[in-house]
Amino acid sequence: MTRSLHIVGAGMAGSEAAWQAAEMGVPVVLHEMRPRVGTFAHRTGQFAEMVCSNSFRSDDDERNAVGLLHWEMRAARGLIMEMASAHRLPAGGALAVDRDPFAESVTARLRAHPLISVVEEELAELPSDGDWIIATGPLTSSSLAESIRAVTGAQSLAFFDAIAPIVYAESIDMSVAWRQSRYDKGETEDERTAYINCPMTRDQYEAFIDALLAAEKTEFHEGETAGYFDGCLPIEVMAERGRETLRHGPMKPVGLTNAHKPQDKAHAVVQLRRDNKLGTLYNIVGFQTKMKYGAQTSVFRMIPGLENASFARLGGIHRNTFLNSPTLLDDRMRLKLRRNIRFAGQVTGVEGYVESAAMGLLAGRMAAAEILGRDLPPPPPETAMGALITHITGGAEAKTFQPMNVNFGLFPPIDAKGGRRGRKDRYKAYTDRAKAAFTEWLAA
Ligand SMILES: Cc1cc2nc3c(=O)[nH]c(=O)nc-3n(C[C@H](O)[C@H](O)[C@H](O)COP(=O)(O)OP(=O)(O)OC[C@H]3O[C@@H](n4cnc5c(N)ncnc54)[C@H](O)[C@@H]3O)c2cc1C
Repeated sequence: MTRSLHIVGAGMAGSEAAWQAAEMGVPVVLHEMRPRVGTFAHRTGQFAEMVCSNSFRSDDDERNAVGLLHWEMRAARGLIMEMASAHRLPAGGALAVDRDPFAESVTARLRAHPLISVVEEELAELPSDGDWIIATGPLTSSSLAESIRAVTGAQSLAFFDAIAPIVYAESIDMSVAWRQSRYDKGETEDERTAYINCPMTRDQYEAFIDALLAAEKTEFHEGETAGYFDGCLPIEVMAERGRETLRHGPMKPVGLTNAHKPQDKAHAVVQLRRDNKLGTLYNIVGFQTKMKYGAQTSVFRMIPGLENASFARLGGIHRNTFLNSPTLLDDRMRLKLRRNIRFAGQVTGVEGYVESAAMGLLAGRMAAAEILGRDLPPPPPETAMGALITHITGGAEAKTFQPMNVNFGLFPPIDAKGGRRGRKDRYKAYTDRAKAAFTEWLAA
C-alpha cells in the first residue's frame, strides 16, 4: 500500500500540497489546528484563508513575474489558482478574490477528495519518522516553532522579518554611486567591492531626514510585539531618536572614498549590499521600515544614485516565522537534518499568498513523487517557480536572508550582453522563456 503523506497546515501552501499529492495518487493526512487553536490573523476554520488583502496581485502572465507564477500554477492544475479564478472579482489587471467563497470552495474540494483525510489538531513537535510537509506559515504555533528551533538551532528560525528595500542593480546610477566595502575589507576583489555606495551632502542628508520624519507609516498589526525592536529598528524610528542617529548608524560615511570625486568627503553614505548570487539585486543596508509603500518610493529616490531606482520589493517589518532555508533545505525542499520532512509556504522564506501556494505545489509534487519511488527535480531557474526555489534553497545570501516575493531579479538575466530592448519587451522575453521551460518540466 502507498505510504501516506502528512501535511501540517491547511493554508495556501498546505492546501495546494495536499491537492497535488492526492491527484498523483498518494493518500494525504492534512493536519490543521484551526478552528480549535486560532492565530491572531485568521478569522475562520476554513482552509486557505486570506488573512489580509484579497489580492493575488497582477494576473499579467506576459510582463509580470507574479502573473507568470499564476500561469505556471494553472498549467500545473493548481487548486488554489483554479478556485481564485472561479471567485474572481473585478479589479483591472489584478486577480482580486472573493475571499470567503474562495476559502470555502478550497475546503470543500479537499474534504471531498477520496485520498485526503483531515485531522483537526495542532502538531506540537517536529516528527522523527514518516513523510511530512510542514506548511504552518508565518504564524506557526509557538510549540511547533520551539521544536523546529530545537532541531535546527536558534539562529535558524526567525520570528519577524525586517525587510530592507531591494533594488534592481541595473537601475542604480553608477556615475554617482561606486563599489567599495568599508575600509576596503575583504580577501578578494569581489569582497572588497561587495557594496554599492551612494554619497550625500549635508543638505541632501537634512532633506532626507525631513522626508523620513514626514512620511506616512503603517501601523503595527495586532499581535505584533515591539520586543524585536532591539535588533532591527525601523529607519524612521532611528531618525526620530535624533537627526544624527542615522549618520552614526547605517549611513555613517567612514572608511569610504568616492571613486568619482575622491576629494569630496560625503556627509552620509547609503550602502547597498548584494542580495543574490546573480548580483542582480541589492538591499539598502539597515533600511528596514514601516513607511507606506508610496512614501518609500519617493523617499528612497531622494538618495543620490537611486533617483531612477526600480524596487524588486519594498521594505517592511512583520510578525513572520521563517527558516533560514538557504542553509537548512536541500533543493527538494527537504530539511537536510531530517530528510523525511519538507517545508513549504511562507515558512520557507517566500512571501505572499501566491508564492506560498506555489511552494506548496512543488513540495506536494516532490513528496508524492518520492513516495511513489520517483525523483522530481525542481523546475529550472528560468521559470518563476524555479527562480523562487533556487533563491530560497541556495541562491540567496544566507547571512541576510529575508522573505522574498517573486520578481524578475531572481531569474537568470536575459540580454546580459547589453541588449537594448525596452523593459516591457525584456519582461516578455523572460516570460516566454519561462513558459517554454515550465512546459518542458511538466511534460518530463
Ligand atoms: C498579518 C498578516 C497579513 C498578511 N497579509 C498578506 C497580504 O495581504 N497578501 C499576501 O499575499 N500575503 C499576506 N501575508 C502573508 C500570508 O500569510 C502568506 O502569504 C500566506 O497566507 C502564507 O501561506 P502559508 O500556507 O505559508 O501559511 P498560512 O496561509 O498562514 O497557513 C498556515 C496554516 O497552518 C496552520 N498552523 C500553524 N501552526 C500549526 C500547527 N502547529 N499545527 C497545525 N496547524 C498549524 C494555521 O492555522 C494555518 O491554517 C500576511 C501575513 C500575515 C501574518
